[in-house]
Amino acid sequence: MAEFDNPYVNEDPFIRAHFDCLDCGGKLWEYAIQGQMVCEDCRGVFLSEQVFDANIERPAN
Ligand SMILES: [Zn+2]
Repeated sequence: MAEFDNPYVNEDPFIRAHFDCLDCGGKLWEYAIQGQMVCEDCRGVFLSEQVFDANIERPAN
């Protein structure tokens, strides 16, 4: 089996993402493995790509 560095091996599998939920504005957590983000409030699941695109259109200033 190939070895690889897993940055999440000693961490919670969810990492805090720097984005807000597209539905309710809650905190999104990035699920490290599948490129998805999960809202901690409404449990909505979004593709990271989707969230990045939305945030590019609406820069946080
Ligand atoms: Zn939400």
